[in-house]
Order: sequence, then C-alpha cells, then structure tokens
Amino acid sequence: MSLLAIGSVAFDAIETPYGKTDKIIGGAGTFISLSASYFKTPVNLVAVVGDDFPEAYIQLLKDKGVDTTGLQMKEGEKSFFWAGRYHNNMNSRDTLVTELNVLGTFDPIIPDAYQGCEYLMLGNLTPAVQQTVIERLVKRPKLIVMDTMNFWMNVAMDDLKSVLQLIDVLCINDEEARQLSGEYSLRTAAKKILGMGPKTLIIKKGEHGALLFQEEKIFFCPALPLEEVFDPTGAGDTFVGGFIGYLAKTDDISFENMKRAIVYGSAMASFCVEKFGTERLVELSYEELLSRVQEFKTLAGFEV
Ligand code: AMP
Repeated sequence: MSLLAIGSVAFDAIETPYGKTDKIIGGAGTFISLSASYFKTPVNLVAVVGDDFPEAYIQLLKDKGVDTTGLQMKEGEKSFFWAGRYHNNMNSRDTLVTELNVLGTFDPIIPDAYQGCEYLMLGNLTPAVQQTVIERLVKRPKLIVMDTMNFWMNVAMDDLKSVLQLIDVLCINDEEARQLSGEYSLRTAAKKILGMGPKTLIIKKGEHGALLFQEEKIFFCPALPLEEVFDPTGAGDTFVGGFIGYLAKTDDISFENMKRAIVYGSAMASFCVEKFGTERLVELSYEELLSRVQEFKTLAGFEV
C-alpha cells in the first residue's frame, strides 16, 4: 500500500561525546522515508528545502526508492537547520539552533500521483502544515499517524490540538506526553491524550523502549540494549517510519499488528543510533533488519 510522508528535510549539526559533524542531511521527513523504504512499499515524500541543499542528498533518498516528486526546492532560500548536543546521557539533548528558514512558509503541494495514498505519515513539522496536508487529500487515508515535538507545543499548541482531532495515531516521547497532558503518570497522560482525538498513542521512551496505548489496551516494547549508542538523532523518526512502513506493507491496522509494527520500528531505530545521522540507515540490509527483529523476540519473549 502506498505511503505519503511529510516532514522536515534538513541540515543537522550534531555533537555527541563521540564527535561532531558539520551540516549533514537530517530532518524528520528524511529519517521517516529512509526507514519506511525498507518495507518495500511505495514511499512518497512531500517536503521543502532551499537551494543550498545538495543534489547528492536528494539522490541518497532516490537511491532508496523514495519518490521525491513532492520535494520542493525554493530558489534563494535556506534549508531548515537544526543543531543539537548530547551529553553522556544520550537520552537527553539540548537543542542549540532551530532555524526554520524555508519551513516557515512551507506550502505542502501534493502531486496528483500521490493522491489516493492509504497511509499518511505526518512527520514533525508545523502543525498547521500537517493539517493542510490532510485537508488537501481527496480521499481520507486508511491510517493517519502523526509525530510532533515540544517545540510545537511551545509555539503552536492550539494548531496542534486542532490537528490531533483529525488523526488516528499520535507518536511522541514521554516528556512530550507529560507536557501535552499536564500529567506525570504516563498511563494517566495516555488517557487524557486519547481523549484529544487519536485512537492510538505511542509514547517513546528512548533507550527504555516504547508504549502503545489503545482503549484499555497497553503494549510495551523494550529498546535493544546496545553496547554503544553513537548518535540518537533521528531515532524517533526512524522508529515511526518503520512503524508505518510495516503497517503499509502488511496493510493490517489491528492492535495485534501494531504491536509487531512497534517491534519493527524499534529494530530500525536501533540501527539508526549506531552511526552519525543517516549513515547506518543507508547501508542497512533487509536481512540485518530481520535478524534484529529476532533479537527483540528473544529479548522480550517469555512463557508463563
Ligand atoms: P528525533 O531525534 O527523531 O527527535 O528527530 C531529529 C530530527 O528532527 C533532526 O534531524 C532535525 O532536523 C529534526 N527537527 C528538529 N527540530 C525540528 C522541528 N522543530 N521541526 C521539524 N523537524 C525538526
């Protein structure tokens, strides 16, 4: 089934205890579409960059089969730029710079060929733009998954609440769930957030795994304990890209299948953090992914 993904396509500059990068390819839309591309389902990307964005970076997406017809390039404008620093505890990071640049005026144009998509992934981006994308689709997709972050809760909470009413699955981290709900307990937070629109909620807890909530049901998937986490940037987007990629491939949106999708998303994210930026994702093989999913099965499976 075809998947439409929107999200930032960006320059990132990252600092971790292992080293520092200059501007490299990043952005939620980038990690989502690279991750979803492993599920051999058509991935169509709608995003915007400035004319400073290298053709080689766009080629990197095309090489993975991502359709970039919907990627606009704005003459005379600069690409979205984000810089972040991680400390020894890689679970928390400081955002050093967020320059919206071209993202500030983004008008998401949906190519005709993208209409009729069954799965829609609204990656991290201005909530008003996320809503515009939904409104511009002639047919409502079978499943709409949305990611967002504290930045948008701080500057555009009303717009964010408005788009929440139109989606099926919200995917955020634990801090964001607490900020959005005003509740500390994640279980209480989930109850409140499920009252805001989405029928399903995923709460990511970084190296502590992810929780899936739907009605009274809860599922937990651990993160794979890795010897070395090199750079967590994009792990959340890679996770959700894998989640929706798996759902689009299997075309089954039951809770049971979402549980499997969470495991596939977690496996993709475990690769993402092994190298800087998108480096590990682009060299990954499908066989490596399958064998890592088996590791999750062994890690979390037990009999009573
Ligand atoms: P993650 O580590 O999965 O939370 O996502 C990191 C990616 O999100 C980076 O590649 C950034 O370019 C991108 N990003 C950071 N802040 C924003 C924002 N406010 N809007 C859209 N994308 C962002």
